[in-house]
Amino acid sequence: MRLLLLSDIHANLEALEACLEAAPQYDRVVNLGDVVGYNASPNEVCDRVRALGGTIVRGNHDRACSGLSTLSEFNLVAAMSARWTQNTLEPDHLEWLRNLPQGPLRQDELPGLEFVHGSPRDEDEYVLSAPTATLDFHLTGHGDIIFFGHTHLQGGFSYKEGKTSPFVPTYEGGGPFVQWKMTLAAGERYLINPGSVGQPRDNDWRAAFALYEGNGGPGDVTFFRVPYDVQQAQARVLAANLPERLATRLALGR
Ligand code: ZN
Repeated sequence: MRLLLLSDIHANLEALEACLEAAPQYDRVVNLGDVVGYNASPNEVCDRVRALGGTIVRGNHDRACSGLSTLSEFNLVAAMSARWTQNTLEPDHLEWLRNLPQGPLRQDELPGLEFVHGSPRDEDEYVLSAPTATLDFHLTGHGDIIFFGHTHLQGGFSYKEGKTSPFVPTYEGGGPFVQWKMTLAAGERYLINPGSVGQPRDNDWRAAFALYEGNGGPGDVTFFRVPYDVQQAQARVLAANLPERLATRLALGR
């Protein structure tokens, strides 16, 4: 089973298209949430994501932009974009977003795998540090391999005998399109973030995604970074009169 892992697309159509074009063969898409929010193509991205099908877990922006939660937890820029998104989305997409399932998701045909937006404990938790990851490994007994998003940082944590170790991809390939393959070890548990398609925050502007290949054993994960038409995505943000900061940050990757 090969899973194409997408997360935090955030209504960035250009970034999504570039990822789908660069993606190797896969059997199913797994989307870790935040389909919309921040960027300016929410309807186009919902169309595309819904057509891809597969497994999808809701994110905090999917909730806020569809009116399921208030904007009180959001900073001003995020709240402005959420309000704009809610006013721009077609009713059918709003309805679809409202009905996305809350993580953690597990599926019978994918034993040992778990899918969350924030963390297994809390769909809104940011797993940014080894101590937080350790708590998640300790307090949840389910997934051996937990795929998460929300932080917009590609990489994650491995856990063995009470010890948590962070990892980040060390890309191979000299061109603008790079990848890094990580072989998972038996007897270890993992929290794995494919990175953000539409608003990366690890100082690398390129769109991020990952491919998981299970082969009866723990399998392996390949992390990808792919250039996309960032100027076009920025132009759409500005044309929509969204805060300028949402355009500038795309080129900075933070
Ligand atoms: Zn997000």
